[in-house]
Amino acid sequence: MKEPLVEGSEAAEIRPGAKPDELEVFDHGFVRLDAAMADDLSVVNGARVSFAVRKDSIDERDKGLIRFLMRERHGTPFEHNSFRFHLRTPVFVAREWMRHRIGSFNEESARYHQLGGDFYVPSQKAVRTQVGKPGSYSFEPVSEIVATGAIDTFRRVYDQLYAEYLALVEKGVAKELARCLLPFGIYTQFYWTVNARSLMNFLSLRNTQAAQYEIRTYAQAVEHFFARKMPATYECFVEFGRKVP
Ligand SMILES: Cc1cc2nc3c(=O)[nH]c(=O)nc-3n(C[C@H](O)[C@H](O)[C@H](O)COP(=O)(O)OP(=O)(O)OC[C@H]3O[C@@H](n4cnc5c(N)ncnc54)[C@H](O)[C@@H]3O)c2cc1C
Repeated sequence: MKEPLVEGSEAAEIRPGAKPDELEVFDHGFVRLDAAMADDLSVVNGARVSFAVRKDSIDERDKGLIRFLMRERHGTPFEHNSFRFHLRTPVFVAREWMRHRIGSFNEESARYHQLGGDFYVPSQKAVRTQVGKPGSYSFEPVSEIVATGAIDTFRRVYDQLYAEYLALVEKGVAKELARCLLPFGIYTQFYWTVNARSLMNFLSLRNTQAAQYEIRTYAQAVEHFFARKMPATYECFVEFGRKVP
């Protein structure tokens, strides 16, 4: 199967990373597949144990079984695997991400250590305006002047807030309190461990036009790794309309 290409406007924001299994995202973020115990065989054996059958490799019949499971929404065989991602995202993306309860998270602490000064500055193309009503917004480009001005504002305010944060920490104010000055655009990092069923739920909700551009871009990078590890499962996920089994 061809590796899925990261398409659309998000593609320009995702680059191969310096480490293996890493994709850089935006100005300071990344998606890194830290470890995976994940393949299509785990789905097949999870299902075939019903008949006390175990396979060592998958064949065309097994791919047919995966199609059947996906189409009929027999979801539990898709749970016998695990992806561990190390992610660096702006806080507002992490906040959306952690709403996905079926998975495990650990995140960098702003109580225990002084945060680095990396902040998300949108690319010129990512500065948009919202049109329409809540729940059915479309997002349109703004003029070059507005985009440039917005980016300048992001940079200026980030610099100022981060300098004030450092000044408070320097004076001995507890980091857990000084951090209140910092905005949603600051970068955080976290680990996320998730099985394929929950991962498909995440992708169905976050790699879609309804999702915010920034988390959608990260979801595209995550999808790249999912497709690589579980190609037959991924193919069926796409074929049956990206619905969760
Ligand atoms: C476009 C978009 C806009 C959003 N806007 C908002 C918003 O304005 N405000 C807001 O608060 N959230 C918002 N969310 C978050 C959303 O409500 C979900 O919290 C998030 O998408 C996680 O989805 P989930 O519950 O399916 O995933 P998970 O939490 O990973 O759950 C996976 C699945 O497990 C099952 N499950 C998990 N927990 C329970 C439970 N307690 N009871 C029954 N079944 C359960 C469900 O089948 C669920 O689909 C938004 C999400 C999207 C994609």
